[in-house]
Amino acid sequence: MMKGTGRAWIELDMNNLRHNINVVRGLLPDGCRLMAVVKADAYGHGAVEIAKELNSNGIRAFCVASVSEGVELRKHSIKGEILILGYTHPEQFSLLIKYGLTQTVLDLDYAELLNGFGEKLVVHVKIDTGMHRLGERSENIDKILRVFKCKNLVINGIYTHLCAVDSDRQTDKDFTQMQIDNFYRVLSKIEEQGFALPKAHIQSSYGIFNRPDLSFDYARVGIALYGMLYTLNDTERYNTGLRPVLSVKTRVSAVKTLFAGETVGYGLAFTAPHNMRIAALTFGYADGIPRCLSCGIGHVLINGQKAPVVGRICMDQMMVDVTGIEGVRQGDIAVIIGKSGKAEITACEIAERAGTVSTEVLSRLGTRLERAFLSRK
Ligand SMILES: *Cc1c(COP(=O)(O)O)cnc(C)c1O
Repeated sequence: MMKGTGRAWIELDMNNLRHNINVVRGLLPDGCRLMAVVKADAYGHGAVEIAKELNSNGIRAFCVASVSEGVELRKHSIKGEILILGYTHPEQFSLLIKYGLTQTVLDLDYAELLNGFGEKLVVHVKIDTGMHRLGERSENIDKILRVFKCKNLVINGIYTHLCAVDSDRQTDKDFTQMQIDNFYRVLSKIEEQGFALPKAHIQSSYGIFNRPDLSFDYARVGIALYGMLYTLNDTERYNTGLRPVLSVKTRVSAVKTLFAGETVGYGLAFTAPHNMRIAALTFGYADGIPRCLSCGIGHVLINGQKAPVVGRICMDQMMVDVTGIEGVRQGDIAVIIGKSGKAEITACEIAERAGTVSTEVLSRLGTRLERAFLSRK
């Protein structure tokens, strides 16, 4: 076990990651394989370390957002298929071959660009069934069939993305069903034309919880592997048994008395109503804590107790109220995300206070955080 010694660090609990892999696998129908989504540095966790652990647990398929993310994984010997979900510039097509990466076909125009590269490229074809982001539109069957006729494309997969599957509003459920129907229609047209159907995938984390009836070849799972869903409410409601993999910790850099009537920090945004003890921490918004948690909206944990934010969060530092916490000293550990004694702050909780979702909080954790790994085997 390695512990962080610096100013701010991430701890990964690989036992919890293994637990989440088992939970997710338990939800997938027979024959459906887990495609781990490790884009954005594995949602801030560290893509290489996470992918290595997934590899050693038998996971052989990954999704990333960009060619550079794929290259990074290959440079660290990650095995299996690596699917790039987004756009790759034609000047980087050679990297697809060099590093054995699978490119998404974004539409017919892009298929022709890939096909014109001159060498065989391995691809998955994206179908737009209603999200209207990427993919050839599902009603353009002729265009989709022209993709399948491209001689230089090795089509190993076909997929779509559901954009309202996290909701249980009836109109959203109906929309999801329409997307699924559109996808099935495309698959049957492809088969009718005598093309072999490639591996198909449609579900992400919410898809496996809300549409367990679907049975495809892969499920592209991100946030559930990291131990939660997008919001606190969903994580509790689905009662998933998932366990957060990541904790974020920092140091108390100074403790001082703030006298009644004095202010703290930029903009004099907080005035002490009475004498207080405050602690400065070596953690700021550049490290990933949303600045909108300033002035009591957010808190950290020290010695198992809540220390509310006082004043405005700075780029590299923040101040918290430790009046009620005994014995806080310079060099002590403060928990930004994770457990301290019996108390816990989750990424979902921070997200809720900041008016966003867990995935944004996690993926915006700062690059200068050190990484420490707990319980690796
Ligand atoms: C990010 C992403 C996923 C993973 O979504 P989660 O909700 O984190 O499971 C799956 N598919 C696509 C296309 C994505 O962009």
